[in-house]
Amino acid sequence: MTLKKLELSGFKSFGRKETLFFDAPVVAIVGPNGSGKSNVAEAFRWVLGEQSLKSLRGKKGEDLIFNGSSQLGRLSRASVAVTFDNANRHFASIDFDEVVISREVFRDGTNEYKINGSTVRLRDIIELLAGISIGASGHHIISQGEADKILNANNIERRLMIEEALGLKIYQWKLGESEKKLGKTEENIKQVESIRREIVPHLKFLKKQVEKIEKVRELKLELQTLYRDYLKREEVYLSFTKENIVKEVTGPQALLADVSRQLAERESRQQAGGHQAEIVVEENKLRELETKIRTLRLQKDDLARALGRLEGLLEFREKEVKKVEPGAKIPFAEAKRLVEELDERFAEIEKATELESVKRVANNLRASLNDFLTNYENKDNHPGEVRVNDDLEKVREEHSKLQSQVQELDKEEGNHQTEIGDIKENIVRLMQTAQTAEHDFYELRAKKSDLELKVRTLLAKKETLAIEEENFKRELGEAGTLIGREVLEYQANDISWEEVRNEERNIQEDRRRKIERIKIRLEDMGVESSEVLKEHDEVVERDAFLAKELEDLALSRESLLSVMTDLRGKIEVEFNSGITKINQEFQKFFSVLFGGGSANLELLKPIKKKDELSLEMGDEMDESSFAEATEDDTSLKPGVEINVSLPRKKIKGLAMLSGGERALTSIALLFAMSQVNPPPFLILDETDAALDEANSKKYADMIENLSKYSQLILITHNRETMSRAGILYGVTMGADSVSRLISIKFDEAEQYAK
Ligand code: ATP
Repeated sequence: MTLKKLELSGFKSFGRKETLFFDAPVVAIVGPNGSGKSNVAEAFRWVLGEQSLKSLRGKKGEDLIFNGSSQLGRLSRASVAVTFDNANRHFASIDFDEVVISREVFRDGTNEYKINGSTVRLRDIIELLAGISIGASGHHIISQGEADKILNANNIERRLMIEEALGLKIYQWKLGESEKKLGKTEENIKQVESIRREIVPHLKFLKKQVEKIEKVRELKLELQTLYRDYLKREEVYLSFTKENIVKEVTGPQALLADVSRQLAERESRQQAGGHQAEIVVEENKLRELETKIRTLRLQKDDLARALGRLEGLLEFREKEVKKVEPGAKIPFAEAKRLVEELDERFAEIEKATELESVKRVANNLRASLNDFLTNYENKDNHPGEVRVNDDLEKVREEHSKLQSQVQELDKEEGNHQTEIGDIKENIVRLMQTAQTAEHDFYELRAKKSDLELKVRTLLAKKETLAIEEENFKRELGEAGTLIGREVLEYQANDISWEEVRNEERNIQEDRRRKIERIKIRLEDMGVESSEVLKEHDEVVERDAFLAKELEDLALSRESLLSVMTDLRGKIEVEFNSGITKINQEFQKFFSVLFGGGSANLELLKPIKKKDELSLEMGDEMDESSFAEATEDDTSLKPGVEINVSLPRKKIKGLAMLSGGERALTSIALLFAMSQVNPPPFLILDETDAALDEANSKKYADMIENLSKYSQLILITHNRETMSRAGILYGVTMGADSVSRLISIKFDEAEQYAK
């Protein structure tokens, strides 16, 4: 690591741009009082991030800008740039062969920092420099009159200086950063935990809602499955049953119409009398014929009696004829009159319809005949042969006449008997027909009521079916409302009529009841809301996110704590070993400068009071600083005391040392620290001012030795010191009050210094 150059422009007395090159291990800057040498050291301090204006001998930022002179106008800004060689990447984070750190200040007090031309924050510069053990305590830049700064500092400040000199600042800084991060992490953990706690009841509520919604979904799925089966079966059942009823009812209905028609016909025939009437007609006929026959028989009886009498008379006449021959004769007129009378009587008989009248006529007839006979018995008119023969003849005629009449009657009766037979047969036939008809009638009526029952049953079935169809439609509607269009998927279900027919209807009823039960449960559960689901998902996601964040935070806390433990351990170990090494060097340098004696650093017990810390840190230091970063631990760390014992003197403790002795002690310690952990450069502004000649020599020797490890920039009036410099710069200030830099030779140096 080498310091290459320093460029000043408008900084304090450097009204014009000046550049210092540091091409030698030791560069000395010489010049008369007030020419601007210390301004160079301050330019270093400033460009490296110094915040204390006091240590820059100013009150405000503006004081650092060239304020003009009688010959040169004042400037609006001051800038300083320091260039480091980075060929071997001491600045590991910057991949350039050179690193230029620059700082600019404007009259309004604003500062601008740049690294290799890019604007950066102050903390970036501090971080970068911490990497090369350069920090705010400024042990590597000893300003004029501040050689014994480390002696004046308190134990804690001293410790910080030593830590910085030992290159532990970077760890301190990292530790501070880690602590800050830890603080933030813990704050975040608390915040996240509190947010999570707030979420818990809401999440619980949402979870319950979601469980309910899930249950509803499950039930709906179950319902859909049930519906798929139920609706298809019902549809198949209804469609086929309807078809079958229609088919079944057509036959019986037609048959019923036919049977009804037949019955109606029969009934109307029945009303018209039917077979019975015919039978009555026939029976009447029969009765008439029987009356006729009875009359005929009476007539026949009469005729038979008349015949008997005639036969008696005939016998008598024949005897008479034999006996009386020639016998009494009956005049013709008498006979004719009798015949006419008889004829008349017979005519009456023939006409008579009643048996009585026939009897009466027969009596008259008998009387007439008796009269006639009596008449001729009394008359003495017995006869001769003629009259007896005549009478016989007449009786014979009469007899044959009656016989033929009887024959007529017999014939007539025979006819009537035949007719009666026919009528009776007819009646029997008619009665048989009537019986058959009646039987058929009752059969038809039975058939009709059978058919009516059948049709009624089927129509009732049809009505039931219509109700079932209505129910089906309603169920389908409800299913649609509950499940949505997907319910129609039931149609794709492949269930055959056979399957439905072969199943008991009550199984389907059971399905419906099951569906009803689920519907009721769904109703009880209320309506699902996708809003709740969305919210639940969001809250769960948020909670998971927070949980993950907590996990991450806990992990980073763990890792921060472990990093911090590591850092603390490292700092402690390195600090302790550093102190040991510094003490060795301190003792060496001290005894060289004082020709004996002893000096050492002593670690004190930890001091817990924070307010003991009063590091002279910048008023402008608003961003993170080392002091802040380590403040917390500092109070717990042991401070560092300096013990000195001068040779041949009973002086112990810093307070009793003379000014020169203080300067020597300071130099011994400063050089010891630089020896143990050489800084890249060391700027010493008239640290050698108080040295006498002998000590100047020793000092110069030490410088030479130190320059093997660190670049040295020495502002000096001391000839011995100048003699060890590889490059000498002379600072002059002319009438224009502007500091100028010129490279000079050693021979010229003494001249310049005056
Ligand atoms: P010595 O050897 O006495 O310590 P020096 O060479 O170290 O002196 P400095 O202290 O660096 O001198 O320079 C101080 C000079 O810088 C003074 O002359 C002062 O007027 C000048 N100076 C300081 N600030 C400004 C400024 N803002 N503008 C112009 N000149 C300034």
